[in-house]
Amino acid sequence: MTLRFAPSPTGYLHVGGARTAIFNWLFARSAGGRFLLRIEDTDRERSSDAMTREILGGLTWLGVDWDGEPVIQSARIERHREECLRLEAEGRAYRCYCTQEELEAKREKAESAGGAFLYDRTCRHLTAEQRQALDAEGRSHVLRFAVPDGRTVFNDIVHDETSFSNEEIDDFVILRSDGTPTYMMAVVVDDHDMEVTHVLRGDDHLSNTPKQVMLYRALGYEMPQFGHLPLILGADKKRLSKRHGATSVGEFQQRGYLPEAMFNFLALLGWSPGDDREILSRDELVDTFDIVRVLKKSSVFDEEKLDWMNGQHIRLLDDEDLFRRILRHRPDDLADIPEDDIRRIVPLMKERMERLPDFFANGRYFYTDPEEYDENGVAKRWKAGTGALLRGLLPRLEECDFSAATLEEVIRGAAEDAGVGAGKLIHPIRLALTGTTASPSLFDMMEVLGRDVCLRRLRAALERISEPEG
Ligand code: GLU
Repeated sequence: MTLRFAPSPTGYLHVGGARTAIFNWLFARSAGGRFLLRIEDTDRERSSDAMTREILGGLTWLGVDWDGEPVIQSARIERHREECLRLEAEGRAYRCYCTQEELEAKREKAESAGGAFLYDRTCRHLTAEQRQALDAEGRSHVLRFAVPDGRTVFNDIVHDETSFSNEEIDDFVILRSDGTPTYMMAVVVDDHDMEVTHVLRGDDHLSNTPKQVMLYRALGYEMPQFGHLPLILGADKKRLSKRHGATSVGEFQQRGYLPEAMFNFLALLGWSPGDDREILSRDELVDTFDIVRVLKKSSVFDEEKLDWMNGQHIRLLDDEDLFRRILRHRPDDLADIPEDDIRRIVPLMKERMERLPDFFANGRYFYTDPEEYDENGVAKRWKAGTGALLRGLLPRLEECDFSAATLEEVIRGAAEDAGVGAGKLIHPIRLALTGTTASPSLFDMMEVLGRDVCLRRLRAALERISEPEG
């Protein structure tokens, strides 16, 4: 079994492309088959090496590895041309001398009559003498495939039996006048030569498939199985595009998503493991993948779900691994913080992040004293009596061992002695230390911050806590 991913390096690796790559990869790996890569760079003007590198980098980041060296389509043009000429020699393709202007005029005429333009096959009926005369005039030509009558039927893995009337299919060009093959021809010859057995790709290619099926038959090649994956939609149920925000894999990487989460999320766009599991590792997905469970209907790219999934995958990382990953998202103004100080915070923040930059954004108080205090928190937590309670606590904090366990004892003990619930101290202290009302466990956090920082922040807060008159 051999599958492939065949990106055109004319743009970034889009999440839709990545999803196609992942499905092909999962299908191959789950069946012990091969997964090949082909760079479809025959559009020389729009293709670039930088984009090829970007695509390969995106796949590598996702953990989608390929077997052997990528096949570079532009290096195979001679082979494509040879097969085009074979079709011509066998009468399955013909020279078309119509000029762009002639074709445009015909198109305009058809469209103004309200119909879709299909090439009227003028050149299909030229005699050998007519062709010779045109060649002698130096007229250039393309090669068009002579579409046979009838219907083209194939069994799609996702959509089952799929059938097109050949009347709706143009005698499409297979070789351009400059001698380069079109996508339609190159893809078939390459898939054949690479011994591809299954082609999974987006639904947007469904209308190309009958043409390719006809080429397979005409060339005498064994046909692969085709499967067309449902489109990915944005939250508004329109086809996912730039309008919806980030769509390239690189952007998600920069925004601090884990490749494990991205892979998991994309694998579940249009496929389900058949039970209610949602968080799956790459290995679990390989073990569970079954092509029959590809869904027919489009799926929505739900960023909230992706955020949630990313948080779940973050919790699955070991602390050191997470530490190394968050370092890449460290803001410049925290560049001087020693790495060990950051490392100690990892277990505390792990449960409180969805994306990697959240580690620093949601935990600034680990590095800098709060300059402001959350207004609602102030109204709710710093009440009459809070100042006295905190002041009473300070001497105990000056002396006690600063471990989380002791701090908990001391703070709960102080509340008890004052005859109030522990929350009357815990919440105001959290606000004083962080400026916010949400943080990891207070006692763990205090241990990490250390005595000096805690006392300094508590004293600063005390100046802001208004005391009742008298
Ligand atoms: N190069 C084509 C694309 O990027 C791939 C076509 C195919 O998978 O057959 O859409």
